[in-house]
Amino acid sequence: MKTNKLLTALLLLLSLTFSIAQTSKDVVDKIVAEANNNSQLEVLAHELMDVVGPRLVGTPQMKKASDWAIATYKKWGIEARMEEYGTWRGWERGITHVDLVYPRVVSLSGMQLAWSPSTGKKGITADLIIIPEVTDSIAFQKWLPNVKGKIVLVSMNQPTGRPDYNWEEFATPESFEKMKKDRDALEEAWSSRMKKTGFTSRTINKELEKAGAIGIVQSRWSNGFGANKIFSADTKKIPVVDLSLEDYGLLYRMTENGDNPKIKVVAESKELGKVPTFNTIAEIKGTELPDEYVILSAHFDSWDGATGATDNGTGTITMMEAARILKKVYPNPKRTILIGNWGSEEQGLNGSRAFVEDHPEIVAGIQAVFNQDNGTGRVVNISGQGFLHAYDYIGRWLNSVPEDITKHIETNFPGTPGGGGSDYASFVAAGAPAFSLSSLSWSYWNYTWHTNLDTYDKIVFDDVRNNAILTAIMAYEASEDASKTSREKSVLPINSRTGEQRTWPEPRSPERNGGVDEK
Ligand SMILES: [Zn+2]
Repeated sequence: MKTNKLLTALLLLLSLTFSIAQTSKDVVDKIVAEANNNSQLEVLAHELMDVVGPRLVGTPQMKKASDWAIATYKKWGIEARMEEYGTWRGWERGITHVDLVYPRVVSLSGMQLAWSPSTGKKGITADLIIIPEVTDSIAFQKWLPNVKGKIVLVSMNQPTGRPDYNWEEFATPESFEKMKKDRDALEEAWSSRMKKTGFTSRTINKELEKAGAIGIVQSRWSNGFGANKIFSADTKKIPVVDLSLEDYGLLYRMTENGDNPKIKVVAESKELGKVPTFNTIAEIKGTELPDEYVILSAHFDSWDGATGATDNGTGTITMMEAARILKKVYPNPKRTILIGNWGSEEQGLNGSRAFVEDHPEIVAGIQAVFNQDNGTGRVVNISGQGFLHAYDYIGRWLNSVPEDITKHIETNFPGTPGGGGSDYASFVAAGAPAFSLSSLSWSYWNYTWHTNLDTYDKIVFDDVRNNAILTAIMAYEASEDASKTSREKSVLPINSRTGEQRTWPEPRSPERNGGVDEK
């Protein structure tokens, strides 16, 4: 009798363990199959990047993106909503067209910066002038009236339009070295020239505007063929355009050589007053522990030099695709799966900071946050972000992920808490276990990050698919985990620079009334 009872109990335990293992393996297999056989990534990328377009905070396109995401989630049977947390200066990009009109006519390649004031339909036509070499800020003030009625060239003229890797491949070692030395000298001279004006590249635009310049042309080369960074204008009334390295060099040389070039700039845009800022939140409610959360996290906004395909379109579609797959193969999660498509990350993690500040109850219930935001590449690094026991649970969850995905991933435990850079930091600062699924670069920093080239064609779909599978499996395992994750913090090391012990980052408040200074 006794033996029988024990045997029955043992058998029961065995079959229970077996059935749990079976379920987990089964769900993981289904996730992989759904991701590979029914991928929606290409469709999502087309609809978001090509049709909605860039997602600069305060633009109508950001609102359109949110409407699109909510409709898409609802189509998959996932509840979704827009959550307002503040306002921003409303602005909409219009046509940019820049032409050299004297001494010959040619269309130039460039675009107005974000929040550039409009020239109107007719545009402006004017002579060009370069920031001069002056002895000091007093001399610069004396020179300043010269900009009246002119368009000012404010960037250094790059000595080569070829990226270093191109020189490395083809130049003789001597000429590559010489070019780098010459370029260093030029950069030093330009920075000393700027310094002597008494302004920085960030503050000089406003000063030129005050002195009567009617437009500003810059070229912020990103060290790759055809790649420029496209940030914001920082003027109140006059347009700021960025030109390609090639066309900027042309104008610069002509101006320097006294060829009296004239350009015409049409840069139309609309001011739209104050508009709401928001996060777009989707949710698959937990059945057993609805107040505990697994958060799929990626910022939804972008700069608007292109369509934000790798920053952070790919992070966005990774999380959306993972959510779609989970809803299909794991429709009744143990814990709540929440997808955070954050607004205004680019201006300082505003959306996620607002979410953390506005939802202490959700933050308290966080099981794990998985954030992805550094390009289209497959995930190659996961850090424990300073959480002492992250190794236990992250390691456990990763065990379920197929080897062809995990073999690329290096882990780092306990790691150090990220103080910024992307939205996971907003959660880490609040002490919630949040992790960055960090990607292989694919030339992110030079070619796509905040550039005019961050477009659909740069997406590497196989890598994004790899990431969607990884995210879905991690989220599934985090949701099913028998225990709630530990938040115990590791003792942080001494900062070798200051000699002081590092401290855990503190939560920061978001900008809830943004863009007003730029007006
Ligand atoms: Zn980003």
